[in-house]
Amino acid sequence: MSGPHEGTETGQGPVYERVALIGLGLIASSMYWAMQRAGLAGEVMGYARSAETRQTAREIGLCDRVCESMSEAVEGADLVMLCVPVGGMGQVAEEIAPHLKPGATVSDVGSVKRAVIRAVKPHIPDGVHFIPAHPLAGTEQSGPRAGFATLFENRWCILVPLEETDPEALSRLRALWEGMGAHVDEMDADHHDLVLAVTSHAPHLIAYTMVGVADDLGRVTDSEVVKYSAAGFRDFTRIAASDPTMWRDVFLSNKDATLEILGRFTEELFALQRAIRQGDGDHLHEYFTRTRAIRRGIIEAGQDTPAPDFGRAGKSK
Ligand code: NAP
Repeated sequence: MSGPHEGTETGQGPVYERVALIGLGLIASSMYWAMQRAGLAGEVMGYARSAETRQTAREIGLCDRVCESMSEAVEGADLVMLCVPVGGMGQVAEEIAPHLKPGATVSDVGSVKRAVIRAVKPHIPDGVHFIPAHPLAGTEQSGPRAGFATLFENRWCILVPLEETDPEALSRLRALWEGMGAHVDEMDADHHDLVLAVTSHAPHLIAYTMVGVADDLGRVTDSEVVKYSAAGFRDFTRIAASDPTMWRDVFLSNKDATLEILGRFTEELFALQRAIRQGDGDHLHEYFTRTRAIRRGIIEAGQDTPAPDFGRAGKSK
C-alpha cells in the first residue's frame, strides 16, 4: 500500500466506525496514516477546500474516500475532525452543522482553543458532542503530502472538555488519540492558550523576528548567514519556515496570552541587554544556568533527545 505507513498495526478495533477529516494538511494526513496503521477507524472520509488538494489526496491514497463537498464528507460520520487553520473553523462548523449525525462528536486540532470554542460552539446542534483538542505535534511542513503515521507518537494531545461534555464521548476521543500514540491530558481553554503562548506561540514569533533580522543583514553578508547557520540560527529558520496562514491565525486568535508573554519577554531582554552593557557577568551566568536546567528537564521528560541535531537529522520532528 502506498503512503507513509511506518510501524505496525496495534490490533486494536475501530474506535469510530466513520471519521470525517475536514482539511487535508499535515495534521489530518498524519491522523489518517496513524488511524489506518492502528485500525482505529472503520472508514475515513476526507474533504479539502481546493480541487488540487483533493486530487493530491486521491493520488496518494489519503482517506478511504475524498469527497467533493463538506456535507458529503460529514454525512453519517461518528467523528468529525476540523483540521483547518484556526481562522476557518467557525465557517466550516456553520457549513457542516445541518449535516451532522445525531450523537456524533465534532472535534478540532486547532492550536488555539478559546477562539475556536467561541467560533464553533454556537453552530453545534443539540445532540452532537463538541470536544476541542490540540495535538502538540507538528513540523514546518504543510499540505497533504506532509503527514506521517508516527507524528503523534510520544507527543501530548490536550483535550479541552466543556462543562457539558459527555464522559463517554470524551473517553472515546481519548482512546483515539492514545491509539495514535499520543499521551492525553485535559485542560481548560484559557489555561491551554496561556501555556501554548509560552511553549509555542511566543517562540515562533521570536524565531520569525530573528530570521527577519538576519534577512535584513543578509542583504550585506548573504552567504555568511547561510554558511554559518548551524551556530544556532538554523533552528530558528526551521521554526520560521512554518505555515504563514496557520501562524497568522494563531497570533490573531491568541492575542491576549501572546501579548502577555511577549511583554514579559521584552522585560527580560532589556534586563539581559543591561547586564551585557554593564559587564554583569554574574547575572548572565546565573540566567544561563537556570535556562540550561530547563533543557535537561525536557530531555528527561522524553520530549526531545540530547543527540546532536536534536535527533531531527532524517525527519523534521
Ligand atoms: P495545512 O497543512 O496547511 O492544511 C490545512 C488544510 O486546511 C488544507 O487542506 C486546506 O485546504 C484546508 N483549509 C485551509 N483554509 C480553509 C478554509 N478556510 N476552509 C476549509 N478548508 C481550509 O495545516 P495543518 O498544519 O494541518 O494545520 C491544521 C490545523 O492544525 C490548524 O488549525 C493548526 O493550528 C493546527 N495544528 C498545526 C500544527 C502544525 O505544526 N502544523 C500542530 C498542531 C496543530 P487546501 O489545501 O485546499 O487549501
